[in-house]
Amino acid sequence: MKNPRVGFVSLGCPKALVDSERILTQLRVRGYDIAPEYSSADLVVVNTCGFIDAAIDESLQAIGEALDANGRVIVTGCLGANPERILQQHPRVLAVTGPHATEQVLREVEQHLPRPHEPYLDLVPAQGIRLTPRHYAYLKISEGCNNRCSFCIIPQLRGKLASRPIDDVMAEAERLVASGVRELLVISQDTSAYGVDLRYRPGSFRGVEYQTRFIDLARALGTLGVWVRMHYVYPYPHVDAVLPLMAEGKVLPYLDIPFQHASPTVLQRMARPAHAEKTLDRIHQWRREVPDLTLRSTFIVGFPGETDAEFQQLLDWLDEAQLDRVGCFKYSPVEGAPANTLGEPVPDEVMEERHQLFMERAMEISKARLAQRIGQTITVLVDRIEDGVAIARSSGDAPEIDGVVQVLDGGALRVGEFAQVTITDADAYDLQATVAGTTH
Ligand code: SF4
Repeated sequence: MKNPRVGFVSLGCPKALVDSERILTQLRVRGYDIAPEYSSADLVVVNTCGFIDAAIDESLQAIGEALDANGRVIVTGCLGANPERILQQHPRVLAVTGPHATEQVLREVEQHLPRPHEPYLDLVPAQGIRLTPRHYAYLKISEGCNNRCSFCIIPQLRGKLASRPIDDVMAEAERLVASGVRELLVISQDTSAYGVDLRYRPGSFRGVEYQTRFIDLARALGTLGVWVRMHYVYPYPHVDAVLPLMAEGKVLPYLDIPFQHASPTVLQRMARPAHAEKTLDRIHQWRREVPDLTLRSTFIVGFPGETDAEFQQLLDWLDEAQLDRVGCFKYSPVEGAPANTLGEPVPDEVMEERHQLFMERAMEISKARLAQRIGQTITVLVDRIEDGVAIARSSGDAPEIDGVVQVLDGGALRVGEFAQVTITDADAYDLQATVAGTTH
């Protein structure tokens, strides 16, 4: 007998992707098949994003498409925290759940599409189903956020910080590594705050006692022998303790810190966590400790009330900080965010000009920093092979958001394996290299 088939659409950030992976794994555990297209599915689950207005529109459109093509749709994810918005436009959806509601989604699926009698439990590999390539995986350590940045409604959508106990996170990390994962990407809304809500609850991993807190997590992950990359870290003073682990090679020399701005007055209006820390001094100190540290960040230009002088402060700060990887968004008002009323909106053309200026400056810095690496021999992780060229990443490149290392003679390298390569050339964001030998 044919198993019931569920179609799945996953929108939004890596955190939503992790939710999608959980739901898909559980669907397979319960005996459902996953349908590759709407027409062959008995029902479709849409995992939505509600972060900014453009994401809301995209989510509503995806729900509409699924309804047109299939007719039986369950909605989950961030936009699901606001069911009226969905039901107003799409009254035909079968059910709506909020974010990280795996159990509720499964209940709704089972109600509208009964599960088969004999679930094929052994069809599911122990590590679950991942939407990312086999050799890297996102490790979500907490949900929600205790901060109240004025431009963000994630705490309203996802609730307060809820950390996973360290033994739970480490058990998942160990399973992933056992299944072939070579790189773990630690994600959450605020990685440095990990465990505060659990009062740093103790736990153990492989016979060693750890606490549920940022630095212990870094230490424990550092024992697994794979790449560990830290995302969404705020520059609280306690973060400095991770630098020695980077210097020892336990954790990748990479920090993703969403600074968002550098002008103290804008940061104050943004109500950013750790905005009063002396970040420039810290960055210089970190680089002294770990010379090959890669710093990635994102920024917002055109925040309400941003003056020319405040923007200039941001540019000057960027020149000083010499960040390696930089993303920049033009401010876009999110419904329900307090920032919308905090100052005069910045006109579109001014915002556009600032965005361009900022990105040009960031590009020059990136280009100069990458050029310094020509001649170095480094370790890369191979993501794929295209026309005889290996597309790989160095410790400085997170998948999907950063650059790549093109290994020109790397056609024989194995996907998901580490390799030693020598950098031969660089452009604004990517490196070119040739093979120096392979390692395991
Ligand atoms: S840290 Fe700020 S921007 Fe990030 S989720 Fe929390 S409130 Fe939103």
